[in-house]
Amino acid sequence: MLKLQGIAVSPGVTIGEALVLDSEGFRIPRRFVERSAVDTELARLQHAVADTAREIERNRDAIRAELGEQYAAIFDAHLAMLHDTKLQDELSSAVRERNWWPEYAVSRTLRRYAKVFENLDNHISQRAHDIYDIEKSLLRNLLGQRRETLAAISQPVIVLAHNLTPSETANLDRRFVQGFATELGGPGSHTAIVAEGLEIPAVVGIGPFLADVSGGEPVILDGNQGIVILQPDEETIDRYRLEAEAARTVAKKLDRLRDLPAVTTDGVRIQITGNIEFPSEAEQCLSRGCDGIGLYRTEFLYLTSRHEPTEEDHFTAYRDVVQATPGMPVVIRTLDLGSDKMLTETKSEEERNPCLGLRSIRLSLRQLPMFRTQLRAILRASALGDVRVLFPLVSTIVELRQARMVLADVMEDLAEHGIAFNAKMPVGMMVETPAAVMMIDAFIKEVDFVSIGTNDLIQYTLAVDRGNKEVAELYNACDPAVLRLLRRTLDVAAEAGVPATLCGQMSGSVMYTQLLLGLGLRQLSVPASAIPEVKQVVRSVSAAECRAIADKALTMDAAREVKAYLRDQLRRLLAETIA
Ligand code: PEP
Ligand code: MG
Repeated sequence: MLKLQGIAVSPGVTIGEALVLDSEGFRIPRRFVERSAVDTELARLQHAVADTAREIERNRDAIRAELGEQYAAIFDAHLAMLHDTKLQDELSSAVRERNWWPEYAVSRTLRRYAKVFENLDNHISQRAHDIYDIEKSLLRNLLGQRRETLAAISQPVIVLAHNLTPSETANLDRRFVQGFATELGGPGSHTAIVAEGLEIPAVVGIGPFLADVSGGEPVILDGNQGIVILQPDEETIDRYRLEAEAARTVAKKLDRLRDLPAVTTDGVRIQITGNIEFPSEAEQCLSRGCDGIGLYRTEFLYLTSRHEPTEEDHFTAYRDVVQATPGMPVVIRTLDLGSDKMLTETKSEEERNPCLGLRSIRLSLRQLPMFRTQLRAILRASALGDVRVLFPLVSTIVELRQARMVLADVMEDLAEHGIAFNAKMPVGMMVETPAAVMMIDAFIKEVDFVSIGTNDLIQYTLAVDRGNKEVAELYNACDPAVLRLLRRTLDVAAEAGVPATLCGQMSGSVMYTQLLLGLGLRQLSVPASAIPEVKQVVRSVSAAECRAIADKALTMDAAREVKAYLRDQLRRLLAETIA
């Protein structure tokens, strides 16, 4: 049994079979071949060995020409390993006698060899890398590409991968993917956000572990604690089964809150809206008792499609969300592409610092036809319900004015063609850069609402990449610098009488609910799965007590101190009222 600690990013506990995608993304499930197919499978294995040998020879020749014989010798060593009779015999007998699928035989056998080298405490241990190289090459010749691999998942599995991009995550089939764990990834990454939206339990940032697991082995994934257990024993499996059962009972209890309003004990009504990435999630928000959709991340229309969405694609998606939440507000955020939400097809050249690069509203303002198409669709949807538009990552007032000008222009165009829309559609901006907070007094005069994006605000304030596990400790919503920016934004918005909401992941964690209400928030936009718990906390606290908690937290000068204090406050609340 091997217990691994990572970063918990999407709650839930699940027990299942591993599907391993290593850094090149191969799927290596434990599969067996029919006796009648053994000869065909052996031939396939031989082919892959021959193709791999050819690849190594090609590399050897190229390196010899560039760097000389000494370096080419590395590849001769690879060839010798590949053709080693002991290895070849083991692979063939695994297929012939044990009826292992060739991919599984390759993965199991070569990893066992690599482990022997890794355990040697001297420079020879580096040889393990050579063996992994040969394994990858053999698997590449046996299997197809990564995207096809993910798309081909057709049985329940827990995906264990080096990394998953947000669009790969968005394309996971929820019917079969019970959970996933990755070696890379940070707490605020969009991969994490999508996992939570899809309600797939997930743990990221574990560090290297894929060499310790083979496809088909049992795995426990605990998305609440950020724990992954490889080859668990029976006792541990039983314990986790009980825990999962208990969580289901709690969730059922919380279901009863569905139709009750989110009101504090002293009568303050709090709007709890849902964050969605896909139209289908609107239904999930509704079934958990939301007050509308506070953030629709429309860039996922792009990330899940092979072609650029048309106006009709946009419109259909928006109409579906509006119709799923009748009479409720639906905040549609314009494309927030860029940074880690990249379309590889449209990426013209590598950006050195993509999160400081051409992303979000900057990209939309640069690609006006795409922006106008989206605005037309949003405006058309505004004729069907309470649609509001939200611009992401605004960092200067000029950007906001330009975006509004494009919107006004599109409105004029629709009016000329007699197409219905709400000319008074509320326009809001995300507050997710320190610049936006510093200039909030100017911005507030030009918007109908603001939505605070703490995922990015934390990143830009603390200069910490939200997707980097190496600095995950520093990525902290409790940091006093972040709290001060929240206070300033909320104070200025309140004074101007402009509604403010918070839609970063922090609003979905009950640890922060009292703090956020105390800072003056009356609207929280959270992932669907968090709605019941947040509502339960709201209904158990008074706005006056929350204010005292926020005031106290703001006197502290270290994130650790704030965190400990908020934890205590939540513990006290749970003990007093909810238990
Ligand atoms: C945020 O930055 O807090 C936010 C809600 O936007 P996203 O996570 O999509 O960047
Ligand atoms: Mg953001």
